[in-house]
Amino acid sequence: MDKIIFLGTSAGMPTLKRNVPALAMVFKPGDEFWLFDCGEGTQRQILQSNLKLSRLSNIFISHLHGDHTFGLPGLLATRGLLGVKKSVNIFGPVGLDSYLNNNMDYTRTHIPYSQHLFPIEKERFLAPNLLWEKENISVYCAALNHNIDSFGFAIIKKHIQKNILIDKLLDINIPPGPIYKKFKEDETVELEDGRILKSSDFVKETITIKKVCYCGDTTFSKNAVSLSEGADLLIHEATFSTHCKEKAIRSFHSTVGDAIEVARLAKVKKLALTHISPRYDDLANSPEKYTEFRELDEKLSSDSPEIILAEDLMELEI
Ligand SMILES: [Zn+2]
Repeated sequence: MDKIIFLGTSAGMPTLKRNVPALAMVFKPGDEFWLFDCGEGTQRQILQSNLKLSRLSNIFISHLHGDHTFGLPGLLATRGLLGVKKSVNIFGPVGLDSYLNNNMDYTRTHIPYSQHLFPIEKERFLAPNLLWEKENISVYCAALNHNIDSFGFAIIKKHIQKNILIDKLLDINIPPGPIYKKFKEDETVELEDGRILKSSDFVKETITIKKVCYCGDTTFSKNAVSLSEGADLLIHEATFSTHCKEKAIRSFHSTVGDAIEVARLAKVKKLALTHISPRYDDLANSPEKYTEFRELDEKLSSDSPEIILAEDLMELEI
């Protein structure tokens, strides 16, 4: 992943400033993107970004509550109306398949591309477990604590950089030229003088790993901590201000303090707070000080994560 776009950062219902939850993870080159949750109106938020529905390949739904799912049937239908033929993978809690199928049946909606549904069974994800992988990307999933099955996702992308050991090649009289490229591409390289060399002896591979974790609705969760261990970015719900701990527990949600606690225990580099209750829409005059984490942030030690308050259509480079 190379970029995150917050498409909706409100909780429960949209406000004038924030739409209901959705998040895009964009991959370069090609701008393929994955969608995490799909609240009502997500397709309209997408229109305000540079995202193209034809480049959408994977959809992950954290849980079945309406503010995270009411936008999905419409988005899938529009993707069909636009003539997109490329298939899409949809990962979500058990029940998402009947929710979508019934919706399509009752509304007589025909989807002209294949949808591969992968039901997430809680029993398999009582602790973080591999959900899906392809080439250099793995997706891990873990059950969180909500009043309905709810899951967090960790996306790990490996990037392999190949560097030519120039000195070693010069030592055996191979000067820089197009032949150097072959060492990066082929297993063996045959020289004009007949010598055959093993590329691995002349190339050093450096592997860098990027990790992003998205935790949908939950109270403080140990699984969220282990899932996001060492992440470059943790996107965590923070429905309530730290003062509203009781309200948060009653509704199975997190406070700003809970999200910070997860981020600190998991030693993540950056924390983005999202899923913000409409009661804080007017942050300056909100009933409780939602942004007081900023003062708290200054008091935290230097190994604490950078904390960002997500806004709709905000983009974060990874
Ligand atoms: Zn929920």
